[in-house]
Amino acid sequence: DTAMALHSEEVIIKLLEHGFEAYWVGGCVRDELMGRPVHDMDITTSALPEEVVSVFERTVPTGIQHGTVTVLCRSYAYEVTTYRVEGAYENHRRPAEVEFVRDLKEDLRRRDFTINAIAKAVDGMIVDPYHGMEDLEKGIVRCVGNARSRFQEDALRMVRCIRFASVFGFRIAYRTWKGLLEERDNISFVAMERFRVELEKLMEGRRPSRGLRLLHRSGLPANAKIPFIYKPDTDLIPIVDEIPMEQVVIRWALLLYACGLSAEEAHRVLRQWTFANIIREQIADILSVGEEVAALNIHSPYKEQWISIVLKYGREAAERWLSMAGYISSKQSGVCPVELLSNGYTWTEEMRIYRLSELSVSGKDLLKLTGRKGGPWIGEIMNKLLVKVASQTLPNDNETLIDEVKRVISSNE
Ligand code: ATP
Ligand code: MG
Repeated sequence: DTAMALHSEEVIIKLLEHGFEAYWVGGCVRDELMGRPVHDMDITTSALPEEVVSVFERTVPTGIQHGTVTVLCRSYAYEVTTYRVEGAYENHRRPAEVEFVRDLKEDLRRRDFTINAIAKAVDGMIVDPYHGMEDLEKGIVRCVGNARSRFQEDALRMVRCIRFASVFGFRIAYRTWKGLLEERDNISFVAMERFRVELEKLMEGRRPSRGLRLLHRSGLPANAKIPFIYKPDTDLIPIVDEIPMEQVVIRWALLLYACGLSAEEAHRVLRQWTFANIIREQIADILSVGEEVAALNIHSPYKEQWISIVLKYGREAAERWLSMAGYISSKQSGVCPVELLSNGYTWTEEMRIYRLSELSVSGKDLLKLTGRKGGPWIGEIMNKLLVKVASQTLPNDNETLIDEVKRVISSNE
């Protein structure tokens, strides 16, 4: 985003004008050097937090005790963090305190990986004391300094390590991997939510299967007491990579499916992973559709049965399942009847109504027609009508539907 970059330049220049040092740092420098889209611009500076606050008109003291001030510039927000080193770490996660320093190189040293420890000045000059550029070129994730102690300080770095390797398709430096294996027990100190955030980024990357394999090999999920679901022996995992990144819910559904989880189990696992309700339901609904498909009655037409699934779980979940089944059937047969696989989209597209209220008869009509008392039978009949009309077995006109009701009732009696 050019506007974002331009305004972040203004922020840096303003700090320079006040006699401070200021650089872009971390993810934005790395991503720019790799030619990847930059999503947030972090700035590191010699100015103390209160000095940053005094230089700019609009600031938010986001994490002021850790040196981070958010500077608002036009419609953008930039995190400006004072050069700092970290004190002793608590619980393998957060430093108990930080110390502000005046030297950029010290600040870069506390960063997790060499590729994340590159700073860029406003004139384009690169400050790269840990040879992050070289590792970027070679495609290596490598800790800054001693891997084992860096992972000991902050156990989240282990998951980040695997995430970066997966998303960028990088190798992990030998000593870094070794340090990770030595420190993997400490992953239990990392909150599930933080783990999940990294896992989500991994799944949104270019080749999640690689990260999943690395995670499995690392033993981290087991130590984090994460009900991890990856089974290395299934040939379905590589298909996850083929699903477009924008369809990440389908990627998740396929992963859970490949590991043999039912919709209900998936729900539980995703809750433990602290997924937001909406996403959890979206993923589990895809699997529910799959379960209903597996239970289709082969003796009656698929079309109506499919439509009733669509009505139950919604068009989105149904179509996502179809898409996922398409990917799976390139590797495994039997996931979905061929007739459904080839017609499901069309059948779904051709649906004319979705709701009972769109039917040209109402529950009241049924009461009047039969003279019976209300009860669950009304809903049952109405739902049957909805399936028939939605799947175009019957037209949506009042007379036809009333006849159908009469037929259903007399055949029941
Ligand atoms: P992305 O934003 O693409 O996920 P990023 O590298 O920008 O990747 P952030 O979490 O935004 O990740 O952190 C910004 C920078 O802060 C990193 O590039 C790194 O220099 C530093 N950093 C973040 N988390 C840690 C950590 N746990 N330990 C050490 N340094 C870290
Ligand atoms: Mg970032």
